[in-house]
Amino acid sequence: MKAVPAPPVTTERPRLGVFKLASCDGCQLQLLNFEDELLALADRIEIAHFLEASSRVVEGPWDVVLVEGSVTTAHDAERIRRIREQARYLVAIGACAVSGGIQALRNGADVAAWKAAVYPQPAWIATLPTSTPVSAHVPVDAELQGCPVSREQLLRVLLRLLLGATPDLPIASVCLECKRNGTACVLVTRGVPCNGPITRAGCGAICPSLGRDCYGCFGPSVDPNVAAWAAQIERNGATREETLRRLRHINGARRELVAAIEELERSTEGAT
Ligand code: SF4
Ligand code: SF4
Repeated sequence: MKAVPAPPVTTERPRLGVFKLASCDGCQLQLLNFEDELLALADRIEIAHFLEASSRVVEGPWDVVLVEGSVTTAHDAERIRRIREQARYLVAIGACAVSGGIQALRNGADVAAWKAAVYPQPAWIATLPTSTPVSAHVPVDAELQGCPVSREQLLRVLLRLLLGATPDLPIASVCLECKRNGTACVLVTRGVPCNGPITRAGCGAICPSLGRDCYGCFGPSVDPNVAAWAAQIERNGATREETLRRLRHINGARRELVAAIEELERSTEGAT
């Protein structure tokens, strides 16, 4: 569902709501990891609903709502509709909320077979056949990518909203961060397949700075050229199976990657 250009938050002490759907809580933890900044932030923002931090609950409407997690059950789908009704500015945070996340790995699988393999009582598991991002259900005002989201990006988004400005999220790829850091490219210098060229900047290129490839946890960059990237890593020795595995990862259900994955699958079938 298309993002709506919501007005900036201008109330004196905006109310913040933080909600969780299907997720591991890692992105909410980034908020708690503010530590020093959290106290200063609490002076400027009323933390109205954040169950991971406090049992105090102030009912909506809320000025800014952060939503972690994907929609995997009918209950999630109903909850996110109700949350949206009470949210002036809704930010989806993290790979689960913006792409479907780890839960979306089941989207191309036999869910009944997976339930039977994982749970002793599969009949008790009421789940939708697919796990989908928040934007598939309600309009979203901003999406913060990453698994987990960057603490600095999250703080910047909240501060900008407090100042009445819309978020200015990065659009470049992780490669730009390697260049800024002066990190030698693992793809060019060692021929290691790396998702950096098609992955959204924001983490500071952590993995290449430690000598390993990026596996794309921040999700796709804006308008990624997946075909050119696939051709490059396959020239370096990656098999088509590996290329597809790298794309189908935790952000594989994200809209920018779905068509590219299908195109690669079609060309693979055509070649066999
Ligand atoms: S190491 Fe990866 S992310 Fe860094 S410049 Fe090379 S391809 Fe890009
Ligand atoms: S380098 Fe890639 S895989 Fe590593 S943290 Fe950054 S986006 Fe995630």
